[in-house]
Amino acid sequence: MSRSAHPAGPRHADVLPEGHYSAPAADLNELDPKVWAQTVSRDADGVVTVGGIDVKTLAEQHGTPAYVLDEADFRERARAWRTAFGQDADVFYAGKAFLSRAVVRWLDEEGLNLDVCSGGELATALSAGMPADRIAFHGNNKSVGEITRAIEAGVGRIVLDSFQEIVRVAHIAQSLGKRQRVQIRITVGVEAHTHEFIATAHEDQKFGIPLAGGQAAEAVRRALQLDGLEVIGIHSHIGSQIFDMSGFEVAAHRVVGLLKAVRDEHGVELPEIDLGGGLGIAYTSDDDPREPHEIAKALTEIVTRECESAKLRTPRISVEPGRAIVGPTAFTLYEVGTIKPLDGLRTYVSVDGGMSDNIRTALYDAEYSVALVSRRSDAEPMLARVVGKHCESGDIVVKDAFLPGDLAPGDLIAVPATGAYCRSMASNYNHVLRPPVVAVKDGESRVIVRRETEDDLLRLDVG
Ligand SMILES: *Cc1c(COP(=O)(O)O)cnc(C)c1O
Repeated sequence: MSRSAHPAGPRHADVLPEGHYSAPAADLNELDPKVWAQTVSRDADGVVTVGGIDVKTLAEQHGTPAYVLDEADFRERARAWRTAFGQDADVFYAGKAFLSRAVVRWLDEEGLNLDVCSGGELATALSAGMPADRIAFHGNNKSVGEITRAIEAGVGRIVLDSFQEIVRVAHIAQSLGKRQRVQIRITVGVEAHTHEFIATAHEDQKFGIPLAGGQAAEAVRRALQLDGLEVIGIHSHIGSQIFDMSGFEVAAHRVVGLLKAVRDEHGVELPEIDLGGGLGIAYTSDDDPREPHEIAKALTEIVTRECESAKLRTPRISVEPGRAIVGPTAFTLYEVGTIKPLDGLRTYVSVDGGMSDNIRTALYDAEYSVALVSRRSDAEPMLARVVGKHCESGDIVVKDAFLPGDLAPGDLIAVPATGAYCRSMASNYNHVLRPPVVAVKDGESRVIVRRETEDDLLRLDVG
Protein backbone atom coordinates (compact mmCIF):
# COMPACT_ATOMS: atom_id res chain seq x y z
CA MET A 1 0.00 0.00 0.00
CA SER A 2 1.38 3.40 -0.86
CA ARG A 3 1.34 6.04 1.82
CA SER A 4 1.27 9.68 0.83
CA ALA A 5 1.52 12.43 3.38
CA HIS A 6 -1.81 14.24 3.26
CA PRO A 7 -1.95 17.93 2.34
CA ALA A 8 -2.28 19.62 5.70
CA GLY A 9 0.67 18.36 7.64
CA PRO A 10 1.31 18.35 11.35
CA ARG A 11 0.22 21.29 13.45
CA HIS A 12 2.70 23.27 15.37
CA ALA A 13 1.94 23.61 19.09
CA ASP A 14 1.29 27.35 18.98
CA VAL A 15 -1.38 27.06 16.30
CA LEU A 16 -3.27 24.22 17.95
CA PRO A 17 -7.02 24.85 18.29
CA GLU A 18 -8.69 24.88 21.67
CA GLY A 19 -9.57 21.56 23.18
CA HIS A 20 -9.00 19.40 26.19
CA TYR A 21 -5.80 17.60 25.40
CA SER A 22 -2.22 17.39 26.56
CA ALA A 23 0.84 17.96 24.44
CA PRO A 24 1.74 14.98 22.24
CA ALA A 25 3.86 12.29 23.85
CA ALA A 26 7.55 12.53 22.99
CA ASP A 27 7.27 9.29 21.01
CA LEU A 28 3.86 8.33 19.65
CA ASN A 29 5.05 4.74 19.21
CA GLU A 30 5.29 4.28 22.93
CA LEU A 31 2.36 2.60 24.64
CA ASP A 32 1.68 3.88 28.15
CA PRO A 33 1.18 0.75 30.32
CA LYS A 34 -1.32 2.72 32.40
CA VAL A 35 -3.90 2.76 29.61
CA TRP A 36 -3.11 -0.49 27.78
CA ALA A 37 -3.84 -4.05 28.86
CA GLN A 38 -0.93 -5.78 30.55
CA THR A 39 0.31 -8.00 27.72
CA VAL A 40 0.25 -5.23 25.09
CA SER A 41 3.57 -4.27 23.52
CA ARG A 42 5.06 -3.31 20.17
CA ASP A 43 7.09 -6.07 18.51
CA ALA A 44 10.38 -5.68 16.64
CA ASP A 45 8.51 -4.91 13.39
CA GLY A 46 6.57 -2.13 15.09
CA VAL A 47 3.28 -4.02 15.13
CA VAL A 48 1.40 -4.09 18.41
CA THR A 49 0.78 -7.48 19.99
CA VAL A 50 -1.52 -8.56 22.80
CA GLY A 51 -1.66 -11.95 24.46
CA GLY A 52 1.13 -12.98 22.11
CA ILE A 53 -0.78 -12.18 18.89
CA ASP A 54 -0.21 -9.20 16.63
CA VAL A 55 -3.09 -6.92 15.69
CA LYS A 56 -2.69 -7.49 11.95
CA THR A 57 -3.33 -11.20 12.48
CA LEU A 58 -6.26 -10.40 14.75
CA ALA A 59 -7.74 -8.07 12.11
CA GLU A 60 -7.30 -10.71 9.41
CA GLN A 61 -8.87 -13.46 11.51
CA HIS A 62 -11.70 -11.52 13.12
CA GLY A 63 -12.19 -8.36 11.05
CA THR A 64 -12.55 -4.83 12.34
CA PRO A 65 -13.86 -3.19 14.37
CA ALA A 66 -13.31 -5.64 17.19
CA TYR A 67 -12.96 -5.45 20.95
CA VAL A 68 -9.78 -7.31 21.87
CA LEU A 69 -9.73 -8.49 25.47
CA ASP A 70 -6.62 -9.63 27.33
CA GLU A 71 -7.82 -12.61 29.36
CA ALA A 72 -4.72 -12.86 31.55
CA ASP A 73 -5.08 -9.19 32.44
CA PHE A 74 -8.76 -9.63 33.29
CA ARG A 75 -8.04 -12.58 35.55
CA GLU A 76 -5.18 -10.80 37.22
CA ARG A 77 -7.21 -7.69 37.97
CA ALA A 78 -10.11 -9.78 39.29
CA ARG A 79 -7.67 -11.71 41.49
CA ALA A 80 -6.01 -8.50 42.70
CA TRP A 81 -9.38 -7.21 43.93
CA ARG A 82 -10.21 -10.55 45.51
CA THR A 83 -6.86 -10.79 47.28
CA ALA A 84 -6.88 -7.15 48.37
CA PHE A 85 -10.21 -7.51 50.19
CA GLY A 86 -9.47 -10.96 51.62
CA GLN A 87 -11.82 -13.50 53.11
CA ASP A 88 -13.68 -11.08 55.36
CA ALA A 89 -15.11 -9.10 52.44
CA ASP A 90 -16.84 -9.80 49.14
CA VAL A 91 -16.06 -8.46 45.70
CA PHE A 92 -19.01 -8.29 43.33
CA TYR A 93 -18.08 -7.61 39.71
CA ALA A 94 -20.64 -5.18 38.23
CA GLY A 95 -21.86 -7.15 35.23
CA LYS A 96 -23.28 -4.12 33.47
CA ALA A 97 -19.71 -2.99 32.63
CA PHE A 98 -19.34 -6.03 30.35
CA LEU A 99 -20.97 -9.42 30.73
CA SER A 100 -20.56 -12.59 28.73
CA ARG A 101 -20.54 -16.24 29.63
CA ALA A 102 -16.76 -16.51 29.36
CA VAL A 103 -16.37 -13.56 31.72
CA VAL A 104 -18.79 -15.16 34.19
CA ARG A 105 -16.69 -18.33 34.21
CA TRP A 106 -13.47 -16.38 34.78
CA LEU A 107 -15.09 -14.54 37.69
CA ASP A 108 -16.36 -17.79 39.15
CA GLU A 109 -12.91 -19.36 38.88
CA GLU A 110 -11.24 -16.31 40.45
CA GLY A 111 -13.65 -16.35 43.40
CA LEU A 112 -15.58 -13.18 42.69
CA ASN A 113 -19.29 -12.60 43.07
CA LEU A 114 -21.48 -10.94 40.47
CA ASP A 115 -23.93 -8.03 40.30
CA VAL A 116 -26.71 -8.20 37.73
CA CYS A 117 -29.43 -5.65 37.10
CA SER A 118 -31.82 -7.21 34.61
CA GLY A 119 -33.36 -10.52 33.70
CA GLY A 120 -30.98 -10.71 30.73
CA GLU A 121 -27.89 -10.31 32.89
CA LEU A 122 -29.27 -12.82 35.38
CA ALA A 123 -29.91 -15.33 32.57
CA THR A 124 -26.35 -14.88 31.29
CA ALA A 125 -24.89 -15.41 34.75
CA LEU A 126 -26.96 -18.51 35.47
CA SER A 127 -26.40 -20.04 32.06
CA ALA A 128 -22.63 -19.80 32.60
CA GLY A 129 -22.96 -21.60 35.90
CA MET A 130 -22.38 -18.79 38.40
CA PRO A 131 -23.73 -20.15 41.71
CA ALA A 132 -26.90 -18.17 42.42
CA ASP A 133 -25.95 -17.47 46.02
CA ARG A 134 -23.01 -15.40 44.70
CA ILE A 135 -25.27 -13.20 42.58
CA ALA A 136 -26.71 -9.86 43.72
CA PHE A 137 -29.71 -8.46 41.89
CA HIS A 138 -29.87 -4.67 41.47
CA GLY A 139 -32.07 -2.13 39.73
CA ASN A 140 -34.58 0.61 40.47
CA ASN A 141 -37.48 -1.05 38.64
CA LYS A 142 -37.13 -4.80 38.64
CA SER A 143 -40.21 -6.42 37.15
CA VAL A 144 -42.32 -8.96 39.01
CA GLY A 145 -41.11 -11.56 36.52
CA GLU A 146 -37.47 -10.69 37.16
CA ILE A 147 -37.88 -10.72 40.94
CA THR A 148 -39.68 -14.05 40.79
CA ARG A 149 -36.96 -15.61 38.66
CA ALA A 150 -34.22 -14.24 40.91
CA ILE A 151 -35.82 -15.60 44.08
CA GLU A 152 -36.58 -18.96 42.48
CA ALA A 153 -32.98 -19.20 41.32
CA GLY A 154 -31.86 -18.46 44.88
CA VAL A 155 -29.83 -15.27 44.38
CA GLY A 156 -27.70 -14.35 47.37
CA ARG A 157 -29.17 -10.91 47.72
CA ILE A 158 -31.64 -8.53 46.17
CA VAL A 159 -30.82 -4.87 46.62
CA LEU A 160 -34.07 -3.06 47.37
CA ASP A 161 -34.39 0.36 45.83
CA SER A 162 -37.84 1.73 46.78
CA PHE A 163 -40.69 1.36 49.26
CA GLN A 164 -42.81 -0.42 46.64
CA GLU A 165 -40.04 -2.89 46.04
CA ILE A 166 -39.69 -3.75 49.72
CA VAL A 167 -43.28 -4.90 49.74
CA ARG A 168 -43.14 -6.44 46.29
CA VAL A 169 -40.08 -8.61 46.99
CA ALA A 170 -41.40 -9.62 50.43
CA HIS A 171 -44.71 -10.65 48.90
CA ILE A 172 -43.15 -12.67 46.07
CA ALA A 173 -40.68 -14.38 48.43
CA GLN A 174 -43.46 -15.31 50.80
CA SER A 175 -45.67 -16.66 48.04
CA LEU A 176 -42.74 -18.86 46.98
CA GLY A 177 -42.31 -20.02 50.57
CA LYS A 178 -38.91 -18.31 50.85
CA ARG A 179 -37.16 -15.71 52.93
CA GLN A 180 -35.03 -13.53 50.65
CA ARG A 181 -31.77 -11.97 51.81
CA VAL A 182 -31.88 -8.27 50.95
CA GLN A 183 -29.89 -5.09 51.27
CA ILE A 184 -31.48 -1.68 51.22
CA ARG A 185 -29.93 0.80 48.84
CA ILE A 186 -29.80 4.25 50.31
CA THR A 187 -28.57 7.57 48.98
CA VAL A 188 -26.34 9.32 51.44
CA GLY A 189 -26.09 12.70 49.72
CA VAL A 190 -22.64 12.18 48.27
CA GLU A 191 -21.97 12.37 44.56
CA ALA A 192 -18.44 11.51 43.55
CA HIS A 193 -16.75 11.93 40.19
CA THR A 194 -13.08 11.58 39.40
CA HIS A 195 -11.32 14.20 41.52
CA GLU A 196 -14.05 15.78 43.57
CA PHE A 197 -17.20 14.92 45.39
CA ILE A 198 -20.23 16.90 46.39
CA ALA A 199 -21.81 16.22 49.76
CA THR A 200 -25.37 17.49 49.98
CA ALA A 201 -28.20 16.97 52.41
CA HIS A 202 -30.47 15.30 49.90
CA GLU A 203 -30.24 13.41 46.66
CA ASP A 204 -31.98 14.33 43.43
CA GLN A 205 -31.71 11.05 41.52
CA LYS A 206 -33.62 7.90 40.70
CA PHE A 207 -31.57 5.38 42.66
CA GLY A 208 -31.88 4.49 46.30
CA ILE A 209 -33.88 5.67 49.25
CA PRO A 210 -32.71 9.00 50.73
CA LEU A 211 -31.14 9.01 54.13
CA ALA A 212 -32.41 12.56 54.44
CA GLY A 213 -35.73 13.08 56.15
CA GLY A 214 -35.58 9.66 57.83
CA GLN A 215 -36.71 7.80 54.70
CA ALA A 216 -33.92 5.22 54.82
CA ALA A 217 -34.61 4.51 58.51
CA GLU A 218 -38.28 4.08 57.65
CA ALA A 219 -37.37 1.65 54.86
CA VAL A 220 -35.35 -0.50 57.28
CA ARG A 221 -38.24 -0.33 59.80
CA ARG A 222 -40.72 -1.63 57.24
CA ALA A 223 -38.39 -4.29 55.82
CA LEU A 224 -37.60 -5.69 59.28
CA GLN A 225 -41.31 -6.31 59.84
CA LEU A 226 -41.80 -8.44 56.74
CA ASP A 227 -41.48 -12.22 57.05
CA GLY A 228 -40.43 -12.63 53.41
CA LEU A 229 -37.26 -10.59 53.93
CA GLU A 230 -34.02 -11.13 55.79
CA VAL A 231 -32.39 -7.69 55.96
CA ILE A 232 -28.65 -8.28 55.78
CA GLY A 233 -27.37 -4.76 55.27
CA ILE A 234 -27.22 -1.34 53.73
CA HIS A 235 -25.99 -0.48 50.25
CA SER A 236 -24.53 2.79 48.97
CA HIS A 237 -23.05 3.58 45.56
CA ILE A 238 -21.78 7.11 45.15
CA GLY A 239 -20.56 7.66 41.60
CA SER A 240 -18.23 6.60 38.84
CA GLN A 241 -14.64 7.03 37.67
CA ILE A 242 -13.66 8.08 41.23
CA PHE A 243 -10.01 8.63 42.17
CA ASP A 244 -10.41 10.46 45.45
CA MET A 245 -11.41 8.32 48.45
CA SER A 246 -12.86 11.14 50.52
CA GLY A 247 -16.34 10.70 49.04
CA PHE A 248 -16.33 7.12 50.39
CA GLU A 249 -15.31 8.47 53.76
CA VAL A 250 -18.39 10.68 53.99
CA ALA A 251 -20.60 7.91 52.61
CA ALA A 252 -19.29 5.33 55.10
CA HIS A 253 -19.77 7.77 57.94
CA ARG A 254 -23.42 8.26 56.98
CA VAL A 255 -24.10 4.55 56.35
CA VAL A 256 -22.63 3.63 59.73
CA GLY A 257 -24.76 6.38 61.25
CA LEU A 258 -27.82 4.55 59.93
CA LEU A 259 -26.54 1.17 61.22
CA LYS A 260 -26.20 2.77 64.63
CA ALA A 261 -29.72 4.24 64.48
CA VAL A 262 -31.05 0.81 63.49
CA ARG A 263 -29.22 -0.83 66.41
CA ASP A 264 -30.56 1.79 68.84
CA GLU A 265 -34.14 1.47 67.61
CA HIS A 266 -34.44 -2.24 66.87
CA GLY A 267 -31.60 -3.82 68.81
CA VAL A 268 -30.37 -5.30 65.52
CA GLU A 269 -26.84 -4.95 64.19
CA LEU A 270 -27.07 -5.40 60.43
CA PRO A 271 -24.16 -7.65 59.43
CA GLU A 272 -23.19 -6.21 56.02
CA ILE A 273 -22.42 -2.97 54.27
CA ASP A 274 -21.87 -2.54 50.56
CA LEU A 275 -19.96 0.53 49.40
CA GLY A 276 -20.72 0.10 45.70
CA GLY A 277 -18.31 0.54 42.82
CA GLY A 278 -17.17 3.52 40.81
CA LEU A 279 -13.39 3.22 41.16
CA GLY A 280 -11.60 5.00 38.36
CA ILE A 281 -9.21 3.75 35.66
CA ALA A 282 -6.73 5.47 33.37
CA TYR A 283 -8.26 6.44 30.02
CA THR A 284 -5.35 8.75 29.24
CA SER A 285 -1.85 9.19 30.63
CA ASP A 286 -3.16 12.03 32.80
CA ASP A 287 -5.23 9.65 34.97
CA ASP A 288 -3.69 8.07 38.07
CA PRO A 289 -5.92 5.36 39.51
CA ARG A 290 -5.29 3.65 42.84
CA GLU A 291 -4.33 0.01 43.15
CA PRO A 292 -6.94 -2.40 44.57
CA HIS A 293 -4.86 -3.02 47.71
CA GLU A 294 -4.74 0.71 48.46
CA ILE A 295 -8.49 1.00 47.94
CA ALA A 296 -9.17 -2.05 50.12
CA LYS A 297 -6.98 -0.70 52.89
CA ALA A 298 -8.57 2.74 52.76
CA LEU A 299 -12.16 1.45 52.72
CA THR A 300 -11.57 -1.12 55.46
CA GLU A 301 -9.94 1.48 57.69
CA ILE A 302 -12.74 3.99 57.14
CA VAL A 303 -15.48 1.48 58.00
CA THR A 304 -13.59 0.05 60.98
CA ARG A 305 -12.92 3.50 62.42
CA GLU A 306 -16.52 4.64 61.95
CA CYS A 307 -17.85 1.47 63.59
CA GLU A 308 -15.47 1.74 66.53
CA SER A 309 -16.59 5.26 67.27
CA ALA A 310 -20.25 4.16 66.97
CA LYS A 311 -19.53 1.09 69.17
CA LEU A 312 -20.75 -1.30 66.50
CA ARG A 313 -19.28 -4.61 65.38
CA THR A 314 -17.55 -3.98 62.04
CA PRO A 315 -19.90 -5.36 59.37
CA ARG A 316 -18.76 -7.50 56.47
CA ILE A 317 -17.84 -5.15 53.63
CA SER A 318 -18.60 -5.67 49.98
CA VAL A 319 -17.59 -3.63 46.96
CA GLU A 320 -18.73 -3.69 43.34
CA PRO A 321 -16.02 -2.72 40.87
CA GLY A 322 -17.00 -3.01 37.21
CA ARG A 323 -14.89 -0.60 35.18
CA ALA A 324 -11.83 -1.09 37.41
CA ILE A 325 -11.68 -4.77 36.51
CA VAL A 326 -12.70 -4.98 32.85
CA GLY A 327 -12.07 -1.44 31.60
CA PRO A 328 -8.30 -1.58 31.09
CA THR A 329 -8.31 -5.16 29.76
CA ALA A 330 -9.63 -4.41 26.27
CA PHE A 331 -9.02 -2.10 23.35
CA THR A 332 -11.09 -1.49 20.24
CA LEU A 333 -9.28 -2.26 17.01
CA TYR A 334 -10.39 -0.15 14.03
CA GLU A 335 -9.30 0.27 10.44
CA VAL A 336 -8.82 3.81 9.19
CA GLY A 337 -11.11 4.54 6.24
CA THR A 338 -10.84 8.22 5.39
CA ILE A 339 -8.69 11.10 6.56
CA LYS A 340 -9.86 14.69 6.30
CA PRO A 341 -7.48 17.48 7.31
CA LEU A 342 -9.24 20.74 8.17
CA ASP A 343 -6.87 23.62 7.91
CA GLY A 344 -6.09 25.36 11.17
CA LEU A 345 -8.35 22.97 13.06
CA ARG A 346 -7.58 19.29 13.18
CA THR A 347 -7.60 16.14 11.10
CA TYR A 348 -10.72 13.98 11.10
CA VAL A 349 -9.83 10.30 11.02
CA SER A 350 -12.82 8.07 10.22
CA VAL A 351 -12.87 4.50 11.41
CA ASP A 352 -15.13 1.56 10.59
CA GLY A 353 -17.10 1.77 13.85
CA GLY A 354 -18.06 4.72 16.02
CA MET A 355 -20.77 5.67 18.48
CA SER A 356 -22.45 2.29 18.02
CA ASP A 357 -19.45 0.55 19.62
CA ASN A 358 -18.44 3.37 21.97
CA ILE A 359 -21.17 5.76 23.03
CA ARG A 360 -19.25 7.11 26.01
CA THR A 361 -17.60 10.02 24.23
CA ALA A 362 -20.92 11.28 22.86
CA LEU A 363 -22.81 10.50 26.06
CA TYR A 364 -20.41 11.66 28.77
CA ASP A 365 -17.77 13.63 26.88
CA ALA A 366 -15.42 10.82 27.92
CA GLU A 367 -11.73 11.07 27.10
CA TYR A 368 -9.79 8.32 25.37
CA SER A 369 -6.34 7.71 23.96
CA VAL A 370 -5.54 6.25 20.56
CA ALA A 371 -2.51 4.79 18.83
CA LEU A 372 -1.43 3.61 15.42
CA VAL A 373 -0.90 -0.12 16.03
CA SER A 374 -0.23 -1.78 12.67
CA ARG A 375 3.19 -0.16 12.19
CA ARG A 376 5.66 2.24 13.71
CA SER A 377 5.77 5.79 12.50
CA ASP A 378 8.25 8.53 13.17
CA ALA A 379 6.22 11.17 11.33
CA GLU A 380 5.41 14.41 13.14
CA PRO A 381 2.33 14.25 15.38
CA MET A 382 -0.93 15.66 14.04
CA LEU A 383 -3.90 16.67 16.12
CA ALA A 384 -6.65 14.21 15.23
CA ARG A 385 -10.27 13.58 16.03
CA VAL A 386 -11.26 9.96 15.63
CA VAL A 387 -14.81 9.73 14.36
CA GLY A 388 -17.12 6.91 13.34
CA LYS A 389 -19.19 6.12 10.26
CA HIS A 390 -22.59 7.09 11.64
CA CYS A 391 -24.98 9.75 10.33
CA GLU A 392 -24.50 12.01 13.31
CA SER A 393 -21.94 14.76 13.75
CA GLY A 394 -21.60 13.90 17.46
CA ASP A 395 -20.28 10.49 16.39
CA ILE A 396 -16.87 10.95 17.99
CA VAL A 397 -14.74 8.18 19.46
CA VAL A 398 -11.69 10.18 20.54
CA LYS A 399 -12.18 13.91 20.68
CA ASP A 400 -8.60 15.17 20.70
CA ALA A 401 -5.53 13.01 20.34
CA PHE A 402 -2.26 12.98 18.48
CA LEU A 403 -1.62 10.45 15.72
CA PRO A 404 1.34 10.28 13.35
CA GLY A 405 1.07 12.73 10.45
CA ASP A 406 1.54 9.98 7.87
CA LEU A 407 -1.55 8.05 8.96
CA ALA A 408 -3.21 6.50 5.91
CA PRO A 409 -6.34 4.57 4.96
CA GLY A 410 -5.84 0.90 5.79
CA ASP A 411 -3.81 1.58 8.91
CA LEU A 412 -5.06 -0.06 12.08
CA ILE A 413 -5.56 2.15 15.08
CA ALA A 414 -6.64 1.10 18.56
CA VAL A 415 -8.45 2.87 21.37
CA PRO A 416 -7.42 1.44 24.75
CA ALA A 417 -9.47 1.06 27.95
CA THR A 418 -12.70 0.19 26.14
CA GLY A 419 -13.43 -2.95 28.17
CA ALA A 420 -16.16 -1.30 30.25
CA TYR A 421 -19.41 0.25 29.05
CA CYS A 422 -18.59 -0.04 25.35
CA ARG A 423 -19.78 -3.47 24.18
CA SER A 424 -22.40 -3.44 26.93
CA MET A 425 -23.79 -0.12 25.66
CA ALA A 426 -23.33 -0.90 21.97
CA SER A 427 -26.24 -0.24 19.62
CA ASN A 428 -27.33 -1.00 16.08
CA TYR A 429 -27.60 2.65 15.09
CA ASN A 430 -27.66 2.93 11.28
CA HIS A 431 -28.03 -0.86 11.30
CA VAL A 432 -24.33 -1.13 11.92
CA LEU A 433 -23.42 -4.58 13.20
CA ARG A 434 -22.05 -4.81 16.72
CA PRO A 435 -18.40 -5.91 16.83
CA PRO A 436 -17.20 -9.17 18.34
CA VAL A 437 -15.31 -9.51 21.59
CA VAL A 438 -12.15 -11.49 20.98
CA ALA A 439 -10.30 -12.86 24.00
CA VAL A 440 -6.55 -13.37 23.58
CA LYS A 441 -4.25 -15.41 25.77
CA ASP A 442 -0.94 -17.24 25.33
CA GLY A 443 -0.79 -16.74 21.57
CA GLU A 444 -4.36 -17.79 20.89
CA SER A 445 -7.48 -15.79 20.13
CA ARG A 446 -11.00 -16.88 20.80
CA VAL A 447 -14.29 -15.16 19.96
CA ILE A 448 -16.31 -14.90 23.18
CA VAL A 449 -19.09 -12.75 21.72
CA ARG A 450 -19.38 -13.09 17.96
CA ARG A 451 -19.85 -10.28 15.49
CA GLU A 452 -23.44 -9.50 14.66
CA THR A 453 -24.55 -10.40 11.16
CA GLU A 454 -27.15 -8.99 8.80
CA ASP A 455 -29.08 -12.20 9.41
CA ASP A 456 -29.20 -11.31 13.11
CA LEU A 457 -30.66 -7.91 12.21
CA LEU A 458 -33.19 -9.27 9.77
CA ARG A 459 -34.30 -12.01 12.13
CA LEU A 460 -35.70 -9.40 14.51
CA ASP A 461 -37.37 -7.51 11.69
CA VAL A 462 -40.35 -9.77 11.11
CA GLY A 463 -41.85 -7.63 8.39
C1 LIG B 1 -22.62 0.89 38.01
C2 LIG B 1 -22.58 0.31 39.35
C3 LIG B 1 -21.41 -0.29 39.80
C4 LIG B 1 -20.14 -0.36 39.01
O1 LIG B 1 -19.62 0.87 38.70
P1 LIG B 1 -18.14 0.97 38.06
O2 LIG B 1 -17.98 2.42 37.82
O3 LIG B 1 -18.15 0.18 36.81
O4 LIG B 1 -17.21 0.41 39.07
C5 LIG B 1 -21.43 -0.86 41.06
N1 LIG B 1 -22.54 -0.84 41.82
C6 LIG B 1 -23.69 -0.27 41.40
C7 LIG B 1 -24.88 -0.31 42.27
C8 LIG B 1 -23.74 0.33 40.16
O5 LIG B 1 -24.88 0.91 39.75
